[in-house]
Amino acid sequence: MAVVDGLRGSIGNTPLIRMDSLSRETGCEILGKAEFMNPGGSVKDRAALWIIDDAEARGELKPGGTVVEGTAGNTGIGIAHVCNSRGYNTVIFMPDNQSQEKVDLLKTLGADVRVVPTVPYRDDMNFQKQAGRYAATLNNGIWANQFDNTANRLAHFESTGPEIWRQTEGKLDAFTCAVGTGGTLAGVSRYLKAQSEAVQIVLADPMGSALHHWVTQGEPSMSPGPSITEGIGNSRITENLSDTVVDASYQVTDQEMVDMCYRLLREDGWFFGSSSGINLGAAVKIAQSLGSGHTIVTILCDGGGKYQSRLYNADFLEARDLYVPSP
Ligand code: PMP
Repeated sequence: MAVVDGLRGSIGNTPLIRMDSLSRETGCEILGKAEFMNPGGSVKDRAALWIIDDAEARGELKPGGTVVEGTAGNTGIGIAHVCNSRGYNTVIFMPDNQSQEKVDLLKTLGADVRVVPTVPYRDDMNFQKQAGRYAATLNNGIWANQFDNTANRLAHFESTGPEIWRQTEGKLDAFTCAVGTGGTLAGVSRYLKAQSEAVQIVLADPMGSALHHWVTQGEPSMSPGPSITEGIGNSRITENLSDTVVDASYQVTDQEMVDMCYRLLREDGWFFGSSSGINLGAAVKIAQSLGSGHTIVTILCDGGGKYQSRLYNADFLEARDLYVPSP
C-alpha cells in the first residue's frame, strides 16, 4: 500500500472485509467496511474531518479556534484527533447514559468533556442544544452540529460511497447501516443510487428508534425500547437524513445484536461494537430475503473496546434481560 499523508491521509480508504461465517451460512457475499480501522477507531472520523475542513474553508474556524460538539462519543473522538493535528481545542457535551470508556478516552485525547443529564431532544437542556448555545458564545469557535450539518453526509458521498463502489466493482445488490445522524446512510445512498438505481438501500434500526416507522410508514414514530446500542437510532429526521432514498428497513433486537457480536468474536475472531452487530444482523436478514448469490455491504462502525463494561459484561446484560449466548 502506498504511503499516506499523516492523520488526514489515514482517515478512510478502509478495507472491505468478507464476513466468513455469515457469507458461508447465507450463500451471499456479506461484506463489511472496516471503519474501526480509522485512526479514531470509528466511522465518525470521516464526518469529523469533513466538518472541520468545511468550517476552515468557509473561514469560520481560524488558527487556535475551538470545535464544540454534542456527541455520544465517536464523533467527539474523531474531532479531538483532527483538532489535535491542527492546533484547535475540543469541547464535548455528552449525555450521561454513555459508556465511561468513551468519556475517559475523550479526556485522554485532551477534550474538555461536559457530561450532562440525558433528556429528550425537545428539551432545552439536551446535549446537542447545550453544545450549540456554548459554541455561540465563542469568538473563534464552531458547533460541529453533526446531526444537521450536511458536511457530515458529504463525507460519505465523497469517500465511503465511492470506496464501496470501487471495492465491489459496482457489483452489489444492497447496502445497509444504522442511523445516528444519518450521515453514513444518506451519503452512501446518494452516491450508490447515482451509480445504479438497482442498489437497494436498507435501514438497520435498533429498537427504541423512530426511523423504522419512517421508512415503512412515511413518518417517524418510536418503536418499543430501550436499546443498549450507542450512537444509533433517532427520534427525528435530521437534515443529513432528509430527502434520502431508503428502500426498506429491518429492525434488529438487542438480543440479536448481542448474539451476532459474541458469535463473531468466538467464531471469526472479531471484536465489534454494538452498531456493527445491528448492521450485520440486518445484512443477514437482507441475505435471507434476497436468497443466495447476492452481495450485501454494511459498515463495521467501531471495535468492541469501548463497550467492555456493557455489551461485553454479562452482569450488565443480565440486568437488562439480555444474555450472553452459550458457546
Ligand atoms: N455507529 C457508531 C458506533 C456511532 O458512533 C455512530 C454515530 N453516532 C453511528 C454508528 C451512526 O453513524 P451516522 O451518524 O453516520 O448515522
